[in-house]
Amino acid sequence: MTEILKAKPLIKEIYSGIKAEIAEGDNPKLVVILIGEDPAAMYYVQNLKKKGAKKGIEVENPVYNTDITQKQLIDIIKGLNSDPEVHGVMLQKPLPKHLDEDEIVMTIDPDKDVDGFHPMNMGNLLLNRDGFLPSTPAACLEMMKFYDIETSGKNIVVLGRSDIVGKPLANLLLRKDSTGNATVTICHSRTKDLAKHTKEADIIIAAIGVANFLTADMVKDNAILIDVGVNQIEDAEKGYRYVGDIDYEACFEKASAITPVPGGVGSVTTAMLLKNVIKAFKLAQK
Ligand code: NAP
Repeated sequence: MTEILKAKPLIKEIYSGIKAEIAEGDNPKLVVILIGEDPAAMYYVQNLKKKGAKKGIEVENPVYNTDITQKQLIDIIKGLNSDPEVHGVMLQKPLPKHLDEDEIVMTIDPDKDVDGFHPMNMGNLLLNRDGFLPSTPAACLEMMKFYDIETSGKNIVVLGRSDIVGKPLANLLLRKDSTGNATVTICHSRTKDLAKHTKEADIIIAAIGVANFLTADMVKDNAILIDVGVNQIEDAEKGYRYVGDIDYEACFEKASAITPVPGGVGSVTTAMLLKNVIKAFKLAQK
């Protein structure tokens, strides 16, 4: 029977761990910078704010106009870097085109970089040193750990090579540790005969942003399917709904385990981000 890898029991565990870490009088705080009022970004941050408040983490979300200059934004980040009341700083993307994202990400103090996107944290990830892991790849690993999914010696195909998901995830799966030791193949838009790779995979992790991309004929029997994708599609009844990059209905019977969308990797990602805020808070206390 196919196992549904639900986020709920895992996030319950992560959130109780977070609560246990916060002592009386502690006030961990995350600042999420928003540039412009993008509805999806606003929705995401409001949700984060609610979740954080429930767990004892303050989430502040200043919104700046899209005509903010590079210098103004850099000065704002420098101010947050030196503010002892702020423990995590993150930037909601995408940024307006006139801003240089690389320079801005480099400005965030690596010790407050709870997104794990600063080159220092990416380097630490690559070298298996302590640092902040980007929350989505960390969520995928946490999910596999929670559901006792063996990665050692397995053929794992990661679909997507973005800096925030595919690339860091593939490197984490290569680590010589309990959630690594896999043989990893990364596929992307230039991969020839992508299905040839997925058909050989014991585990497929899809992060490409194409609704229902992975179909049953691309998957071998008893594969484990982890879906990072979140895609909005039209729905006759509700107007729209969210689906992943994996065709859930079609692949369900063939898979030995599969993550749902929603209620899968996305929910764990939020929990892992808040866990990073606690880590930053503890770091600041040292
Ligand atoms: P991204 O930056 O757009 O990267 C997409 C990657 O997929 C790229 O490497 C691209 O290849 C590849 N790709 C796109 N179309 C493809 C195709 N037809 N065949 C093969 N490869 C293809 O996306 P992202 O930020 O990594 O996000 C990926 C998905 O995960 C999205 O649905 C996003 O909403 C979701 N997401 C979810 C979470 C969560 O917490 N659940 C967090 C972040 C993102 P090239 O490099 O060759 O262009």
